[in-house]
Amino acid sequence: MDASAIIRKTAADLRLAPNLADYAAERQCFSWEAARAELALDREGRVNIAGQAVERQASGDLRKKTAFRFVSRGAASRDVSFEGLSRLTSRFANVLKNLGVGRGERVFVLSGRIPELYVAVLGSLKHGAVVSPLFSAFGPEPIATRVNLGEGRVLVTTDLLYERKVAKWREKMPTLEHVLLVTGEGGCTDIPGTLDLATLMADAGEVCEVAPTGAEDMALLHFTSGTTGTPKGAIHVHGAVVTHWATGRYALDLHPEDIFWCTADPGWVTGTSYGIVAPLLHGVTSIVDREEFDAERWYSILQDQAVTVWYTAPTAIRMLMKAGAEIPRKYRFPQLRFIASVGEPLNPEAVRWGKEVLGLPIHDNWWQTETGGIMIANTPAFDIKPGSMGRPLPGIDAAIVKRQEDGSVAVIDAPDVEGELALKRGWPSMFRGYLNNEERYRKCFSGDWYLTGDLAKRDADGYFWFVGRADDVIKSAGHLIGPFEVESALMEHPAVAEAGVIGKPDPVVGEVVKAFVSLKAGFEDSEALRMELLGHARKRLGAAVAPKEIAVVASLPRTRSGKIMRRLLKARELGLPEGDLSTLESGG
Ligand code: AMP
Repeated sequence: MDASAIIRKTAADLRLAPNLADYAAERQCFSWEAARAELALDREGRVNIAGQAVERQASGDLRKKTAFRFVSRGAASRDVSFEGLSRLTSRFANVLKNLGVGRGERVFVLSGRIPELYVAVLGSLKHGAVVSPLFSAFGPEPIATRVNLGEGRVLVTTDLLYERKVAKWREKMPTLEHVLLVTGEGGCTDIPGTLDLATLMADAGEVCEVAPTGAEDMALLHFTSGTTGTPKGAIHVHGAVVTHWATGRYALDLHPEDIFWCTADPGWVTGTSYGIVAPLLHGVTSIVDREEFDAERWYSILQDQAVTVWYTAPTAIRMLMKAGAEIPRKYRFPQLRFIASVGEPLNPEAVRWGKEVLGLPIHDNWWQTETGGIMIANTPAFDIKPGSMGRPLPGIDAAIVKRQEDGSVAVIDAPDVEGELALKRGWPSMFRGYLNNEERYRKCFSGDWYLTGDLAKRDADGYFWFVGRADDVIKSAGHLIGPFEVESALMEHPAVAEAGVIGKPDPVVGEVVKAFVSLKAGFEDSEALRMELLGHARKRLGAAVAPKEIAVVASLPRTRSGKIMRRLLKARELGLPEGDLSTLESGG
């Protein structure tokens, strides 16, 4: 890489002394034990995420401080203090208790970024229940699949989402006993089979003990996708809170005086680990915007809320770039001192655009649902090589490895060699399993190494560079989409004989979902049928997951063992070399 492209950090770039001032020294002296001690965790190993994130602050000097400021279009913002959050989450925990929901039972939350979502997540944790926030743009099928896999007993949602996405599928979710509804203005409170959350909250007491959960007790379930099969429920434990705290300190550089804005939705792991837990642990005020992306609105939030630390995603940054440099000129954000981004590759131009237009470079970092927290990051302390994900944080050992035939891995020491990104097991927020799928979990490890499924390189200075995924999962607007889930939904349409789904590169959202289908006898390709298939997929899967493009083909390329060769579909779509075709069934 051209050395002049490196963004050098000088003392003048830093408006506050960074928490991680000396990368090498901090890596050397850091230990997870010491981090646990600094958080004053119980010696017997008892820890509860809500206890740490809410109660510790609510019983200390920060009790009156704003924990969350909820903003939305056309309404006054609503501030909730740490003390207020403690009362609300206790009420919610008591609602669960009154319903007879026990420790370890599963609560799902399906809503936009409204206060009730945050209260339900933290209140469930306080009660010792396991909570799984679902993305509200999911359609009925991904919702039902996840609730069933997680054996959800309680669902917290809104009247509108319930009527649109859950009601008709309710009998397909046999474990679901209680549906607690947030009813909006003019909302209906007497939908059969549901309970009104506001009434239950009003009737519940506002005092409750934090459940004495252990560090290894299951706290959160986040669903993620693989190449094949159903989504995987990654199990996260209460002890993960130590990683949330350490990474909030090092990778996001959170200081108590910060106003922090994480734009991620809690339906995805970033929106939980960093949209809820990490800022609370640091006693920081978080902005939560209920609305979808809008360039003008986002700049106005940065200005009007005096955001100091901003955690966002490459798709959003590219959309801001596309909206042009005129809009940001109308706004001022002198308080903004640190910008980080995650979820997909961040192009070097985006890093530099940040410096030119916002006055600050964008710090890319890397992690995934399974890691529970940021693993590799560009921190304020060191120079940025635009296009690199940065370096492993203190407490994290990362390497580039090659899988061997006997199942072991060989660590590649030489710089700039492509291989699979692996992490040495042992950080507190590492997932502890895929729910009910021990086999799939075991396959992610070789000895002490967790194999991430990402291909990457490490350079001579220890910076990691993302290369691509080792599997077929699709990243669209930062969301991981399993092709199998999309193919299954398409196959449910009577016209579809077979379906293969790929991610097609897109300059703004990274990849768009493109489907290839072949038709059953008696059906003919037409514009109307393709529209119908897209509509069918959208209705079942929701806008976040459904394909945006569809092509009808005579047949799909398959391996001799019958697997659809998505790799080949993609190569053909992009006009790239078709690669090794030795396993291709003849005629594909
Ligand atoms: P998820 O589990 O949905 O958070 O998706 C995790 C995946 O997103 C990773 O395995 C990567 O493939 C991708 N990803 C996350 N962060 C980055 C990044 N900074 N650069 C490139 N890809 C990323």
